[in-house]
Amino acid sequence: MDKAIREMPKAELHRHIEGCVRTGTVLDIARRHGLKLPTFDEAELDRVYKLRSPGASLSGVLKMFELAQASFVSYEAVERITCEALEDAYKKENIRLLELRYSPDFMFRNNGLDWRKGQEIINSALVKFEKASNMVCGVIIIASRSYGMDSVLKTIDFAVDNKKTVIGFDLADNEAAYPSQLYRSAVKKLHKADIPLTVHSGEEGEYRQVEETITALFPRRIGHGVKAAEDPSGRTVELIKRAGITVETNPWSNYLTRAVASIEEHPLKKFIQAGLRCTIGADDPEILDTHLNKEYGLALEKMGLSAGDVKYTLKCAVEGSFLPADKRQQAARELSV
Ligand SMILES: [Zn+2]
Repeated sequence: MDKAIREMPKAELHRHIEGCVRTGTVLDIARRHGLKLPTFDEAELDRVYKLRSPGASLSGVLKMFELAQASFVSYEAVERITCEALEDAYKKENIRLLELRYSPDFMFRNNGLDWRKGQEIINSALVKFEKASNMVCGVIIIASRSYGMDSVLKTIDFAVDNKKTVIGFDLADNEAAYPSQLYRSAVKKLHKADIPLTVHSGEEGEYRQVEETITALFPRRIGHGVKAAEDPSGRTVELIKRAGITVETNPWSNYLTRAVASIEEHPLKKFIQAGLRCTIGADDPEILDTHLNKEYGLALEKMGLSAGDVKYTLKCAVEGSFLPADKRQQAARELSV
């Protein structure tokens, strides 16, 4: 089973670059740049840096990103981390369609890096990797809600100005404190520019937030969406279905942040049975100690998915991808969907 899962060509639509920094890279960059770390022993650091069991809320997990965030010290570091993320996805997980996402304000703010230059470096790493492999990839720009409205507006302008190298836009983090309706008018600029939107929604809090996200922001995809399953009337799931939205599920991430009480209770199977378009993602593979091989294994062994269901999620990923049609067609051939 393990070997078959590893070798299966895969697609990933929900992966944060900031969550892809290897422990060894955190250590190496800290040494080179004289940064402080809780420990310089790699095994010890790995224990501090990675979340292995549910023990933190979503905000607790976001705090764990500080070590990763500190690693983006220079353009060279940005390039290295991006290249390693691509390499890990391609070689370890056999991913053939990869959408990476990052928040420029989160990644670049502490070290005063220029957003445009950072984006150019990330994009050229992707272009280079694509040319040298049979994986297609693209980058989504994230606005972090908790950085305030000015940051969200700046990030939207940045995505629109860099439309040529950006495949989509995401609104992430703390939905409970910063509800979707706050961004109703801000996202109009994205829609006007034809930049597809995905929103982290229904990852925590309650199912009503998912409805609010859909009616206020008109996203093409929703990140997580697990809380939709808690609507006893089934209306929220129906709304997602009617809107043709693809749900980017991240089962292990949801388990670690206690969005679901156990991995067995993750609603992915229910969503598929209800006819929703769903994909399986790893979210933050290094920090959450996961990867798609593990996620697919859990889906098949603990979450009740059949091999046919997994194939269906791959088809949904190709169809729901923000990549241009030629790249999606290439991925469809690679994934046989
Ligand atoms: Zn995410």
